[in-house]
Amino acid sequence: MSKKLIDGKAIAAKIKKEIAAEVAAMIDADQKGPHLAAVIVGDDPASQTYVSSKERACASVGITSSIYRLEAKTTEKDLLDLVEFLNNDPDVDGFIVQMPLPDHINADTVILAIDPKKDVDGFHPTNAGRMMLGLPAYQAATPYGIMELLKRSKIEVSGKHVVVLGRSNIVGTPVSVLLSRKAEGADATVTLCHSRTKNLKEITLQADILIAAIGKCEFVTADMVKPGAVVVDVGIHRVEDAKIEKGYHLAGDVDFKNVAEKVDRITPVPGGVGPMTIVSLLQNTLAAAKKTIYR
Ligand code: NAP
Repeated sequence: MSKKLIDGKAIAAKIKKEIAAEVAAMIDADQKGPHLAAVIVGDDPASQTYVSSKERACASVGITSSIYRLEAKTTEKDLLDLVEFLNNDPDVDGFIVQMPLPDHINADTVILAIDPKKDVDGFHPTNAGRMMLGLPAYQAATPYGIMELLKRSKIEVSGKHVVVLGRSNIVGTPVSVLLSRKAEGADATVTLCHSRTKNLKEITLQADILIAAIGKCEFVTADMVKPGAVVVDVGIHRVEDAKIEKGYHLAGDVDFKNVAEKVDRITPVPGGVGPMTIVSLLQNTLAAAKKTIYR
């Protein structure tokens, strides 16, 4: 693999080994091993794929997982009852409710019902608020994964100008907060851009580190990046491709082929941020079982 590539797959594999060793040590010490539960409502294919890969990732490090598959017509009340059950199940250390939920269920109501101590997705306002204040918290998986990726790839962040494209609650906003905090692996000067940002290209051209999380396939082109920059591509898109048996290939928010020629380091899609996101969920689940964030 080219030195230019930030190899999220390899870094995630290394972290998984570290987690597996910690889980094995807990079990050797006759402690209960970590247990993650996942709730999925409906049959959205992408969500089914995400939940299955979380299940496989748990198995690969010795974390127990249980999946609750609910029909699309499940009522909000029934889902809230399950959340309450999982909040009180002493065997479950942490759980997630896979998003998006069907339209008749209010996602905010569900997130608010999750006990913050078990909110390993880090979506509850208590965890989001604690993260913002620099207090121990479950961090949302993708921002947590991006921070680990930068740290383990030894990319200097302190004092750098980071431009984040996208301000979603699950990626852009939290990663911009984490990078701008006065903390090891952070201390960046951050500009957060969104759909109302004027002169976007003028801003992206100033980025030492550019994080693209806008959900638009290959939006970031070579003329938008500074030579020698570091580019982190969060986007995931299926692009129809008759040459491939499954009929599509994956692409990101960055025009990888042309941007890669110009920059110093870049994450590929797939194999960049994606594997780190899943591993962050495992890290949060381990932290929940070890009670390192909440006692
Ligand atoms: P999202 O909720 O759709 O948010 C997109 C953000 O991009 C919004 O803040 C939007 O601005 C901004 N935006 C849209 N068009 C823009 C434009 N032309 N110029 C500047 N900003 C623009 O997206 P998300 O959930 O953060 O996800 C972003 C991408 O990452 C998606 O492709 C998603 O599939 C992917 N993703 C990957 C992982 C992973 O593990 N690799 C995890 C999560 C998400 P406004 O706020 O003004 O609307």
